[in-house]
Amino acid sequence: MRGALGGPRVLLRRLREVMAEPVSAQERLDKVVVLIAANMVAEVCSVYVLRIDNTLELYATEGLKREAVHQTVLAAHEGLVGLVASEANPINLSDAQNHPAYSYRPETGEEIYHSFLGVPILRAGNTLGVMVVQNRARRTYTEEEEEALQTTAMVLAEMIASGELSALARPGAEPAARHTLHLTGAALSDGIALGHVVLHEPRVVITNFIADDVQSELKRLDAAIANFRTDLDRLLEHGDVADGGEHRDVLEAYRMFAYDHGWLDKMREAVMTGLTAEAGVERVQSDTRARMLRQTDPYIRERLHDLDELANRLMRVVMGKDHAPSKEQLPENAILVARSMGPAALLDYDRKRLRGLILEEGGPTSHVSIVARALGIPAVGEIANATGLVESGDAIIVDGATGDVHVRPPADIKNTYGERVKLRARRQEQYRALRDKPCVTKDGQPVSLMLNAGLLIDMPHIDETGAAGIGLFRTELQFMVAPSFPRTSEQLALYRAVLDAAGERPVTFRTLDIGGDKVLPYMRNVDEENPALGWRAIRLGLDRPGLLRSQIRALLRASGGRGLKLMFPMIATVEEFDQAKALVEMELTHLRRHGHALPERVEIGTMVEVPSLLYQLDELLERVDFLSVGSNDLMQFLYAADRGNARVSTRFDPLAAPVLRVLKDIADKGRAHGKPVALCGELASKPIGALVLVTLGYRSLSLTPSAVGPVKALLLDLDAAKAAAAILPAIQSPVGSVSVREKIEAFAAAEGLQL
Ligand code: PEP
Ligand code: MG
Repeated sequence: MRGALGGPRVLLRRLREVMAEPVSAQERLDKVVVLIAANMVAEVCSVYVLRIDNTLELYATEGLKREAVHQTVLAAHEGLVGLVASEANPINLSDAQNHPAYSYRPETGEEIYHSFLGVPILRAGNTLGVMVVQNRARRTYTEEEEEALQTTAMVLAEMIASGELSALARPGAEPAARHTLHLTGAALSDGIALGHVVLHEPRVVITNFIADDVQSELKRLDAAIANFRTDLDRLLEHGDVADGGEHRDVLEAYRMFAYDHGWLDKMREAVMTGLTAEAGVERVQSDTRARMLRQTDPYIRERLHDLDELANRLMRVVMGKDHAPSKEQLPENAILVARSMGPAALLDYDRKRLRGLILEEGGPTSHVSIVARALGIPAVGEIANATGLVESGDAIIVDGATGDVHVRPPADIKNTYGERVKLRARRQEQYRALRDKPCVTKDGQPVSLMLNAGLLIDMPHIDETGAAGIGLFRTELQFMVAPSFPRTSEQLALYRAVLDAAGERPVTFRTLDIGGDKVLPYMRNVDEENPALGWRAIRLGLDRPGLLRSQIRALLRASGGRGLKLMFPMIATVEEFDQAKALVEMELTHLRRHGHALPERVEIGTMVEVPSLLYQLDELLERVDFLSVGSNDLMQFLYAADRGNARVSTRFDPLAAPVLRVLKDIADKGRAHGKPVALCGELASKPIGALVLVTLGYRSLSLTPSAVGPVKALLLDLDAAKAAAAILPAIQSPVGSVSVREKIEAFAAAEGLQL
């Protein structure tokens, strides 16, 4: 450098003073550019801020014409400044005018300057603006100067992110850092919530960016890295890390980084420019993020999460904060934003304050979604980079019905959603009024509405909805949310509590349905090509009878003195049913022999989820006490379309003739054998689905709790005989000639039914 005045450290110290001065935002920015220009012996220093309309506005300059400030606005990719912003990379040129991207605005008077150094203003890898220095002479800025300018940009990023500059902006042209975002993801759990962002794994908040003494900051960084390495080594050598598997791989990758000289040198260099140790870590991480966010390779993007986690851990070590902040201090109306989350972690939060959940990952069948639904917390998943796009405390809206998320919403969006929340509340009020009304169709057909449940937190829903009982109790949920295998005594305690909570109302327990997409984190994963078609549910239970038998024993003991309804998942042949039923008999004999109280009556049924059962219905119905159709899996296997894969799961219509014919056959056969047939898949939870099922002859449906109100309201107004006359012929007519869905919709419209 041609002799920086005092070098980058002095610059940073002066900047800190300017940041603390009680002056207006514009004055502060004006002082900043003067300081930088003087320190770097540059004739020009300018700050461009990225606006919500994706343009770059000149906010301050030393050296260019003053009149251009707030007047010069560049398109997103315009000129070298646009290139720095879009690529999030510095550009350093001795003769800028020769660069193909060069363009200039006459109002700025910049045509006399030849050398150009532009750096992005980055925060968490997102571009907030661009900072530029220029000189008349053709000179190359040194690497140190580039580094120094990037460090200064970091301080500016904080200023922009704080929202201080918004006061200088015209409406519609505010800085993008604080702008409104409308994102769309996967709807995971119904409901609407308005609140404020709480990051599940908060980024460490740095309050002090500028070092008082660089040598002591270097020492802090080195000491932290040494500690960090020791911790990782210890974890890997002695810790509770399973052999192989994801967890160990991630720690190994951390260790590789912790010993990587390139990474460490970059952080040390950043500190040497005058940053505190933690700000040095953040600087390097923000640059890495910016580069990785521009990659499309999903593998690289996945590694970004690991790196974020690594940098965050290191920052905590540097700052002596070993643990993430406690979950007890959740603010009111908290909307959690997380990359991913286990169900147990969600249950740790204070339910009264938690209003919504947003995940970068997480499909509708993920465990955390199941728990969110059980808790009635609106949730949206598959929002890419959600944790990087929001700041703690940001206003945010989650629409769990549509998958929409609004970050920092403007007043009109807030009002619209406020109205929607009120409307929903009014509707809930109407549904509540129906709670104690028996569910009987207009033409006198009683329909039993039951609930799908799986955790104790589901049980209050019976009273809230007025449901007739629990039609499907998914026992695997207890296993999925537990940190380790629940002991038989714990299973017994849960089943007892469930039966106590249900009182007189029946509960149908389903034995463990694990495997497939229902993974237990503590159980060694069996690598399978097609887990949905693999070693799961009853297959696993019959091959490892110890596990299934201890569960059956817990169920039998829990219901001692009462009735027990129990069914098996994923039965594919009558022989499998016979074998499973034999295990129940064995356990009954065992309990009898040991003098335990036995259930008054044991009814044993099975789920109908595997298409092979459709051709064994007569034999099956002779053996079972009841059937329950699992339409989620049955549909998946009938159409050969993965229920968890959004590309194919919505491709086929569950209300098309082939499926409805199948469902009608099952109901007809059940009636012929005098055995009750219920349906407990998602289909029953939609009013249109319930309408069709009653039309097909189903008189028992098991629903998700929030669906009871809308489904009951519809059924009370339904004339089932009329529906059968209108819809059944369409199901029997040649496939493809009539859209059954349209027929149903037309019928509902003509009858004034709310679908
Ligand atoms: C089903 O498959 O329809 C069902 C109810 O079971 P689960 O969703 O738990 O697989
Ligand atoms: Mg199933």
